[in-house]
Amino acid sequence: MSLTTLHTQHPRTFEENRFVYPVLSRRSEGVSVGVNLNPDKVCNFDCIYCQVDRTSQSETRFVETAQLVDELEETLKLAASGELFEHPKFRDTPPQFRRLNDIAFSGDGEPTTYKNFDEIIRACAELKQRLGLNAVKMVLITNASMFHRSHVQRGLEILDQNNGEVWAKLEAGTAEYFKLVDRTPIPFQQILDNIGSAAKVRPLVIQALFMRINGQPPSQAELEAFCDRLSEITAAGGKLKLVQVYTVARRPAESYVAPLSDAEVDAIVALVTDRTGLPAKAYYGTAS
Ligand code: SF4
Repeated sequence: MSLTTLHTQHPRTFEENRFVYPVLSRRSEGVSVGVNLNPDKVCNFDCIYCQVDRTSQSETRFVETAQLVDELEETLKLAASGELFEHPKFRDTPPQFRRLNDIAFSGDGEPTTYKNFDEIIRACAELKQRLGLNAVKMVLITNASMFHRSHVQRGLEILDQNNGEVWAKLEAGTAEYFKLVDRTPIPFQQILDNIGSAAKVRPLVIQALFMRINGQPPSQAELEAFCDRLSEITAAGGKLKLVQVYTVARRPAESYVAPLSDAEVDAIVALVTDRTGLPAKAYYGTAS
């Protein structure tokens, strides 16, 4: 029996995967197939609310493209065929969520720092086309720190051609608060410039996580400054299709970080809508 035949008769389940993991996402109202481009858990930000467990080291340090694409193919087939919902982890999925929504590039660090970012995006897009999954979105979840690099821009263009969506993190209105929350040497202005430039090419989704820090929610002045940064992006010709306002849902990196109440998240959504005119949506502390 050839290896291929063996493989067909006993398909791997996603539990043995090293780079690709299906999750039920209430935010996307379906299954999101995550692709982890940072198995080494290294990130160029050090967010105080980060939910990546860095207390243990991962056994997988490097991305192996062939293995990753192979895992993605198996997982997409499981989700698209519905076989996934026979698995104990997915058996309780409500009927309306039994659909494959997207491939999400995120993982345990910043995906655009991966040196072959454009190549891996291309390989995944080609696979999606080959499987006839044109309606499945490709979502990049990013801190926008590398958009000025040419290989990242090429990757974004491939996403644009393949039902892609870019979810860019922006959760501060001032450089001071940005430093406090995101703890990176990359200047706030670089992030704003990157988001502004990328939003001129395709509409972006903004992901904004707000939280309590030492018991204190973000100040009204900080939230207003955040809205003003959004307005500056749109006034300069950038397109923002949605502002997702959310809060901490799992154990954060720092113990002095805690979630906002649902009412506090709602108040930020109302402020964003009133002050910027942009569509905004709330995701509460219990959302996945
Ligand atoms: S950018 Fe994302 S992965 Fe990196 S530290 Fe922040 S929350 Fe964690």
